[in-house]
Amino acid sequence: MNNLLSIENLRTTFKTYAGDVQAVRDVSLTVREGECLAVVGESGSGKSVTMLSVMRLLANNARIEGRAIFQGVDLLSLPEREMRRIRGKDIAMVFQDPMTGLNPTLTVGLQLREGMMYHLGLSRAEADKRAVELLNLVGVPEPERRLKQYPHEFSGGMRQRVMIAIALACNPRLIIADEPTTALDVTIQAQILDLLKRLKKEFNTSIIMITHNLGVVAGMADRVVVMYGGRVAEVGTVEEIFEEPKHPYTWALLRAVPRLDRSARERRLEAIPGSPPNMLQPPPGCPFHPRCPYAMNVCAAEAPAMTPLSDEHRAACWLLHPDAPPVEFPQEVTEA
Ligand code: SF4
Repeated sequence: MNNLLSIENLRTTFKTYAGDVQAVRDVSLTVREGECLAVVGESGSGKSVTMLSVMRLLANNARIEGRAIFQGVDLLSLPEREMRRIRGKDIAMVFQDPMTGLNPTLTVGLQLREGMMYHLGLSRAEADKRAVELLNLVGVPEPERRLKQYPHEFSGGMRQRVMIAIALACNPRLIIADEPTTALDVTIQAQILDLLKRLKKEFNTSIIMITHNLGVVAGMADRVVVMYGGRVAEVGTVEEIFEEPKHPYTWALLRAVPRLDRSARERRLEAIPGSPPNMLQPPPGCPFHPRCPYAMNVCAAEAPAMTPLSDEHRAACWLLHPDAPPVEFPQEVTEA
């Protein structure tokens, strides 16, 4: 599979009255054609800011450095006019709260038509016809009637389907879905994930799924990037991350995945002790060291480099150094 998007050495810093917030620190990752890449981490890990940096949707106090090569073009150095064409047409976003992406004062039909008329040059009648097809595709019943309604007349799950229909309207090569199911109940969550999976297969659309919950990505992602403290902690295929995780932060995230095969008492989630780092003054060395039960002296002094473990699997942890003391691999983590 060819690379569709390559993010290289991305750094995003916010200038604030309190000082510089180093939200993303030297992040490199790739998204291939037709794959689903999950980007996982607690809030504040830098996962959403990474994607908003690539889309150039951050406030003016953000300084973005590095490159984001999409189909051979560096998005970070494009004129704003060309970037506007790419947003919505080639790359679309789906947010956690569809009300963020939907205009409450306009009908769903108008919001669906807008992009198709602007980006694809469709006539109003052609855009209406395709809007009905799109709502059918994402499972909104009675699409002709629903097109005349406003977002508040839809349930949360139906609004999310509308957002996905809008995202699909111009046949994007890449959809960035930021916590697309977090606000929904479990049944609707499963339906939306199934829908995204089907669309990826049918249209070969690449998907970046941003989530704090590793459980959500199990049946969906091809590869997983785990982020912590604005850096990539581990990256690998979904099997490698679930069956042979190598980074203590990934172990902690896996322990926090609910296990339905366990009794209610056993199913108690293991919260990750401690709090994510303050990115105004990120800890030196490995950003996870203040919370890591395996931390050694070197961890607080120097950031670990990425260690390659297979063609796809890499992790940034001093435990992978040949001179590091052997650590018992927590087997219970991989039994989830
Ligand atoms: Fe823990 Fe050290 Fe590995 Fe960081 S580098 S995850 S502190 S063992």
